[in-house]
Amino acid sequence: MLADAYIIRNTTMASSTLRSLGVLTSGGDAPGMNAAIRAVVRGAIFHGLKVTGIKRGYQGLVDDEMESMDSHSVSNIIQLGGTILKTARCEAFVTPEGRRKAYENLCARGIDALVVIGGDGTFAGAREFGSEFDFPVAGIPGTIDNDICGTDYTIGYDTALNTIVEAVDKIRDTASAHNRLFFIEVMGRNAGFLTLHGGIATGAEAIMVPELTNDYEQLEAFLENAHKQHKTSSIVLVAEGDQVGGALKIAEQAQKDHPEYDVRVTILGHIQRGGSPTADDRINAGRLGVSAVEALLAGKRDIMVGLMNGRIVHHPFSHSKKDRRPLDPQLLELIKILSI
Ligand code: ATP
Repeated sequence: MLADAYIIRNTTMASSTLRSLGVLTSGGDAPGMNAAIRAVVRGAIFHGLKVTGIKRGYQGLVDDEMESMDSHSVSNIIQLGGTILKTARCEAFVTPEGRRKAYENLCARGIDALVVIGGDGTFAGAREFGSEFDFPVAGIPGTIDNDICGTDYTIGYDTALNTIVEAVDKIRDTASAHNRLFFIEVMGRNAGFLTLHGGIATGAEAIMVPELTNDYEQLEAFLENAHKQHKTSSIVLVAEGDQVGGALKIAEQAQKDHPEYDVRVTILGHIQRGGSPTADDRINAGRLGVSAVEALLAGKRDIMVGLMNGRIVHHPFSHSKKDRRPLDPQLLELIKILSI
């Protein structure tokens, strides 16, 4: 039944002028990027397109570091973290000269359209490039931060969240054994999604996120109350971009203000970026990858392919940049209730 549906769609799209597609991963790596590359490559081949893999994000476009891909190029990668195409931050692409070089390299190779997998910086570059050269580009949100407007989900977020849960569970064992107050620093740049959701999932006593301006005062109130209640151990998750500072700075301040606690710090760091992607990250990467190809075949351009309420959505890149994606106030309230 499913195969029939695909055959029908396949013939409908054969009239597109698109013949050859490039794919790249850019910005920070995220688990599930390989599953997304696989989906783009196989989706494109399914629809009769040639596919070229571009190495090291926009840097490979500028340096003409590209290679042709076939269905076998993406065999056995769905379960791997990282990205087989590598990723990079590319200063040259931020300049008009760099983007022109990238355009000339794409034209020389006969590539008609581009799929970029990355975060909001990658989308900013894609928007700039697409409008400058009238070149069709589709973006797939791939970042552990989950901070992109216009999509509830970014590839890699679910895996990173589960890595945090596993690590914090282990730290809780030792925290309870020694009556300690642990500050655990979590990634997410200026976004607190991993911290808030990680905090709820691990039963953290408090969180500190960049979105809240009074979180140190809230922490103070919590610590005083916990001491009165003779709470023996506590875990506070701190977003790396918190306005007060990272976990080290906050812990130092808390130790000064509350000498009654035995304070410890753990910075989870890059383990949050690695590992085999979760089932959700693999499935969503598959959906987003194929949808990006089909959107380009249908003549769409300058779009980000996202997921909202479980459904695929296509938004202009400008939408992803609109505002900062806010944390859910109900979840902020929930963590307070659950940690009394
Ligand atoms: P992550 O959220 O994981 O950090 P990201 O895609 O936001 O991923 P960035 O380093 O911000 O990561 O952006 C990736 C690349 O996109 C940059 O290195 C640069 O080459 C390009 N880029 C970012 N902003 C622009 C821009 N305004 N114009 C052109 N290119 C840009």
